[in-house]
Amino acid sequence: MKRVLFFCALILTCIILLSGCTILPVSEFSSNAEDRPGFTVYFIDVGQAESALVVCDGQTMLIDGGNAADSNLIYAFLKNHDISYLDYIVATHAHEDHVGGLAGALNYAKAGVALSPVAEYDSRAFNSFVKYLDEQGVSITVPEAGDSFKLGGADVLVAGPTRRHDELNNTSIVLKISYGETSFLFTGDAEREAEQDILEAGYDLFATVLQVGHHGSDTSTTYPFLREIMPRYAVISCGEGNSYGHPHENTLSRLRDADVILYRTDMQGTITCVSSGTDVSFSVERNADARTNPLELDEPDVSYIGNINSMKFHRVTCSGLPQEKNRVLFDSRDEAIDGGYEPCGTCKP
Ligand SMILES: [Zn+2]
Ligand SMILES: [Zn+2]
Repeated sequence: MKRVLFFCALILTCIILLSGCTILPVSEFSSNAEDRPGFTVYFIDVGQAESALVVCDGQTMLIDGGNAADSNLIYAFLKNHDISYLDYIVATHAHEDHVGGLAGALNYAKAGVALSPVAEYDSRAFNSFVKYLDEQGVSITVPEAGDSFKLGGADVLVAGPTRRHDELNNTSIVLKISYGETSFLFTGDAEREAEQDILEAGYDLFATVLQVGHHGSDTSTTYPFLREIMPRYAVISCGEGNSYGHPHENTLSRLRDADVILYRTDMQGTITCVSSGTDVSFSVERNADARTNPLELDEPDVSYIGNINSMKFHRVTCSGLPQEKNRVLFDSRDEAIDGGYEPCGTCKP
């Protein structure tokens, strides 16, 4: 009997190896997140860097791990959330602020599949990632645009990179995760050239939540890309007072024009987003009322801002203010109500 089982296992292994699929299925599932149904994304505050943990129906995916100096933080985060198995670990690209802290993750958790746009890159941070994977007997899978896989009940699509780039940011793996009617787009540090490639490839980019590319740099989140995504919410991962000036005002202005409600790790710490499959809800570590995307207002007396399209009115501090051409300004709440405007559900004026 034992011998029969052995041969069955051998034949199965051969079939898997010969089938040549770029992303191998996770064979050994031992996640202790197993008993947690539903969909949660943690945008982990790693300062001027990026890291997001996705948990869906007990399966887990870590997308980037911040800088090498964040290794302890990532280790502790996984430990505190009792996640000792990562079905997928993703290095969006080889820059240290994305790949550096993945060593900390692998120091705590065992990984199933490791995705990276390159299998080798000569830097201390990347070599450390490879070393920890080697110790677990996991080799890097380089995915191709168009690949897809399941994460619990969610569908994950690799939307980029669609071609080779020399500029590392443009090699970023771009992932769209769909869970029920909600969807999430993770773009790493992809810049306008990579955004253009993805647009040309014609993927359905519509997403409820956008992780804003390259920490809110002006070189990402171009208007054509944003128009295809049409996000309701966006998250920027960056460090307070960072030397790059991220997020850039031009990016913030484009997000305001698109009426996007913005969350920022530099102001609000780790941001948690839960999807019910039909709706998403956010919670933040601190400063829930932070003005994440403020606009300097000329009129000091303005108390409320109405949106002439939605006929909703907002506090001036609301994160979901309409673009300027659609604004009407009110001195008082009564003035807005008398004008036929209804209070916004987010800032509850
Ligand atoms: Zn980066
Ligand atoms: Zn980068």
